[in-house]
Amino acid sequence: MGKKQFKAESKRLLDLMINSIYTNKEIFLREIISNASDAIDKLCYLSLTDENVGLSRSDYKIDIAVNKDKRTITVSDNGIGMSMEEAENNLGVIAKSGSYKFKGEMKENETEPEDISIIGQFGVGFYSAFMVADEVTVITRRYGSDEAVKWQSKGADGYTVTPCEKETVGTDVIMHIKPDTEEEIYGSYLETWKLKALVKKYSDYVRWPIKMDIEHQERFETGEKDEEGNPKYEYKMVSENQTVNSMIPIWQRSKNEVTDDDCIQFYKEKNRDRKDPCALVRINAEGAVSYKAMLFVPGEENENAFTGDNKGGITLYSNNVMIMEHCDKLVHEYFEFVKGVVDSPDLSLNISREILQHDRQLQIIGQNIEKRIKNELLKLMKEDRPKYEEFFKNFGLHLKCGVCDEYGRYKDFLKDLLIFYTSEDKMVTLKEYTDNMPESQKVIYYASADSLKHAISLPQCDEVRSRGYEILYLTMPLDEMVLQAIREQDGKLFCNVVTDDLGFDTEEDKKAAEEKNIENRELLDFVKNAVGDELKSVTLSRKLTRMPCCLTTEGGITLEMEKYFRNGPSEEMRKIRANRVLELNPEHKAFAVLKDAAENDKEKAEKLSKVLYALAELMAGIEIEDPAEFTDMVSELF
Ligand code: ADP
Repeated sequence: MGKKQFKAESKRLLDLMINSIYTNKEIFLREIISNASDAIDKLCYLSLTDENVGLSRSDYKIDIAVNKDKRTITVSDNGIGMSMEEAENNLGVIAKSGSYKFKGEMKENETEPEDISIIGQFGVGFYSAFMVADEVTVITRRYGSDEAVKWQSKGADGYTVTPCEKETVGTDVIMHIKPDTEEEIYGSYLETWKLKALVKKYSDYVRWPIKMDIEHQERFETGEKDEEGNPKYEYKMVSENQTVNSMIPIWQRSKNEVTDDDCIQFYKEKNRDRKDPCALVRINAEGAVSYKAMLFVPGEENENAFTGDNKGGITLYSNNVMIMEHCDKLVHEYFEFVKGVVDSPDLSLNISREILQHDRQLQIIGQNIEKRIKNELLKLMKEDRPKYEEFFKNFGLHLKCGVCDEYGRYKDFLKDLLIFYTSEDKMVTLKEYTDNMPESQKVIYYASADSLKHAISLPQCDEVRSRGYEILYLTMPLDEMVLQAIREQDGKLFCNVVTDDLGFDTEEDKKAAEEKNIENRELLDFVKNAVGDELKSVTLSRKLTRMPCCLTTEGGITLEMEKYFRNGPSEEMRKIRANRVLELNPEHKAFAVLKDAAENDKEKAEKLSKVLYALAELMAGIEIEDPAEFTDMVSELF
C-alpha cells in the first residue's frame, strides 16, 4: 500500500514536533496515556449498554513495555480501538481538540509560533510522540471488528495504513525512540525508572491502572551454608508487573474517607517538606463551576521565593490528568506561597498560560480559592496566634507586597491579614490597634527603623509612649509604603512619630515654639551651614525629652524609604533622598553649650554642630560617612 501524505496543517505541526527545540519533550507519554485512557472510557461506557463487551471494570488497563534492544516503548490499552477509517481520520489529520487549538495559535504563514514553549501547554496529543520517536506504529483493533489495522509513520514524509492481525480489541502505540544526540539523550526514555517517574508526575491519577514490569533485586537462599552454619544468599534481579499510578487522587475523596492528617502526609511527601503545613484548605465546589481543591500554606518559606525563580505552587488537573504544574495565574502573587492541587473536570487539556488569564471559569475558581485561603488564615490568627505569627514571619512580606501592588488594588482584601509589632510588646492587626485606642487618641502612631531595637530607642517615641499611646514599630523597608497604601483604619489616619506633628501641642504651644525658632534663627542657620548641603533645615524640637537632637524629614520621602530606594533596581531610584531636618532640643544641656560656643568660639561651635548631626544620624540608624573624622571631632572637644 502506497504512502499517504498528511494534510497540510498536520504536516506543519509534525515538522514542529520533530524539529522542536521545545525542551519539555517528556509530555509525550502523558498524551499517549491520555488517549489510551479515553479509549478505555469509551469502551467502558459502551459496556453499560452492550453486554457483549465482556470486560468488567477491573479488566481495563494500560500497559507500558520497553524493549531496550529495539529501542521501543509500547503503550497498550484494551479500550475501544480504531477501525481502518478511524485510524486514518484520527491520526492522519489534525484532529479535534488539542491539536486543532494549537493550529489556531499558529499564525498564517508562520513556521513557528512566537513562543515555542506554548506547544507543551496544549493537548498536542498523538503527534507529540514524534518529539521522541523517529517512527510510530499503531496497531489497533476496534471493538466489534475482527480485523486490525497497522498505521505507521516516520514523520513528515507521510504514513501507511494496512490491515493486520491483532488478537484482542484495543490499541498498541509503538514508539521507536530517536538515536541520542549531543543535546538530548533520548535513550533515557527507555529506562524504566524514568518512565515510572513520568507516569507519577503526569498521569498518577489516571483512573485506569498503568502497568509496567519493574525490576528489583531480591535475595534468595542458595541452599549452602557458610562456616558458621548460616544460610548463604544470592541476589537476583526479579521483574514484577506493577501498577505505577495511584489512580484515585486524594483530593477526589470525601472528607469522611480522608482525614486532614492524611492530607498533611500527602503534602509532605509530595513537597518533600518535613514540616507540617500551617493551614489546609479543602474545597469541593459544585454548581456553575465545579472543582475540587486541596491547598496548603507551608510551615516554612521555601528557598526559591524572591530569587526571581518564583513558581506558583498550585498544580492544575483536569479529569485527573495534570495539565499545568506551577500554575501561577490562578491566585495572585501575594498568595504564591500556597501549594496544592486544583482539579476541575470543566477544564480542557488545551489550556495555555495565555488563555488561562482570560478563562472565566478559572478566574472564578481563583477568586473562590483566594477567599477560602484568607478565611483559613483569619481562623488561624484567631485560634492560634503564635502559629499565625510564625506564618507571618515566613510569608508576611508576600502579603505586604500585595498591599502595595497595582496602586493598592488588593489592599482591602489583604489588610486584615497584616500584623505589626507594637510598643505593647505584641503583634496586632490594625483593627485590634484601633479597637484598643483610648478616646483621647486621634491617630495611629508608628515609628520606622531598621530594627525593633532601633525603633524602640527612637527619641521621638518618648512622648507618645509617655501618654500611654501604643506605637506600631515598622521594621521592614516596605512597611511605610504599606501604611501609605492602606491610608486609614476605621477612619483613623497614620502618624509618623518621627516626621509628623504628633497633635499634642495647643495653638499657644505652637506659637511659642515658633517664636523660639525665630529668636534662635541665627544659631540654627549657623548649624545648617556648618553641617552642609545634605541638611535641608535645622529647627528646635518640641518632641524631645531625653535626647539632645534627632533627625527627621520633610515631604513624602522618609529616611526608611530612602534606605529602601538605595537598594532599588534603577539608578534613578537609588538617587532618591529624603529632605533631612535636624531637630535640636532647646532644653538640653548640649544646646546651651552650643549656643555659648557660637557666641565665643566659632570653630568649636562648628564641630559641635557636626557632632550633633552625626549623633542624630546614628540614632536614626544611618551609618555615619566618616567614623574616623567623627572620632577626631569628639576627641578634640574634651
Ligand atoms: P485528541 O486526543 O486531542 O483528540 P490526538 O491527536 O491525541 O487528539 O488523537 C486523535 C484521535 O485519535 C483521538 O481523538 C482518538 O479518536 C484517536 N486515538 C488516539 N489514540 C487512541 C487510542 N489509544 N485508542 C483509540 N483511539 C485513539
